[in-house]
Amino acid sequence: MRKRGYKTELDLTNEQITACLKHAGCARKAYNWGLARKQEARAKGEPMPDARTLHRELNAFKATEFPYMYEVSKCAPQEALIDLDNAFKQFFRKVNLKKQGRFRGKCGYPKFKSRKKGIGGFRLTGAIHVFEKSLQLPRLGTLRLKEKLYLPRNAKIGSATITEQAGRWYVSICVHEEVVEPEPTTGPVIGVDLGVKTLATVSDGREIANPKALRKRLKKLQRLSRWHSRKQKGSANRKKSQRCLARMHARMAHVRQDALHKATAGLVAKNKPSDQRPAVMVLEDLNVSGMLKNRHLSRAIADVGLSEFRRQIAYKARDAGCRVLVVSRWEPSSQTCSGCGWRHPNLQLSDRVFMCETCGLTIDRDLNAAQNLATLA
Ligand SMILES: [Zn+2]
Repeated sequence: MRKRGYKTELDLTNEQITACLKHAGCARKAYNWGLARKQEARAKGEPMPDARTLHRELNAFKATEFPYMYEVSKCAPQEALIDLDNAFKQFFRKVNLKKQGRFRGKCGYPKFKSRKKGIGGFRLTGAIHVFEKSLQLPRLGTLRLKEKLYLPRNAKIGSATITEQAGRWYVSICVHEEVVEPEPTTGPVIGVDLGVKTLATVSDGREIANPKALRKRLKKLQRLSRWHSRKQKGSANRKKSQRCLARMHARMAHVRQDALHKATAGLVAKNKPSDQRPAVMVLEDLNVSGMLKNRHLSRAIADVGLSEFRRQIAYKARDAGCRVLVVSRWEPSSQTCSGCGWRHPNLQLSDRVFMCETCGLTIDRDLNAAQNLATLA
């Protein structure tokens, strides 16, 4: 069995939005209250109470302190307290790793959640039913879905998480799926060169264009940000421009995500006959976080979302029975001639066309790199 999430947008009525806001509010309240209780116990030198103890305590206080929690499903605060336990677990795990010197970076001590940082969401468990165009949840009733037939029906559902982003509401259901061994592929070996100019160049000559979600909208975004920053703090107009800006960012993220999903699905070609699906896909292990530090490259790379591309390729290839080979970033895939193996001594990033001085091959730089990757398999 394997857990998998399916996320899609909800089409809510105003009453349902109000109910969801209440649920998210109670989840946030429970999380913050639990965090305060844990810190209190720690300050006194007592062991920190766990989610079950805290939920029992919360229920005892409910009638006097949090009467509004009767309006929401008990799952919302309960699951929030479980999230809090996990947040501490992750924190202590990282602290331990850091002591051993196996982790660098922030350990991420759990923080109080603020309404100002976003509505957030909540998780429900129990009787969850998925229909063609809707979803039935405890306490919230039937919620319409914007996309029909996306969520798997007749699946074993663990939980449903509802979240808000830039005024839109989403549900993600956690499904326990049987692992199905994919049909083995018999197709070619392909090399995929990820880049900035084109999103991906495949060794068989295919080119996947980059939507340039950010660059296209950058001017508009800059104007909006400026407009926003000139609004008085705490004013209604600032709130308005804040919403506008958030929608813009969300829109760009969606365009980017859509392009990545289409590209990775096209490469893996899950529904094609097995001889048309690649047997091995060779990718380069790019140092993305290192490249992001390069000022000249960072915007372009963040725009493309190279890490997300690799994440999607990894799980989609696994489901389609295609092997993924990641080669070292020190492999000189761009500098070597894919025809004869001649090494270009000083190829610049601005040289878009590769010209071999030995065999005279003239080829697009990215295509050359992709073909080199394919031969490495
Ligand atoms: Zn050559």
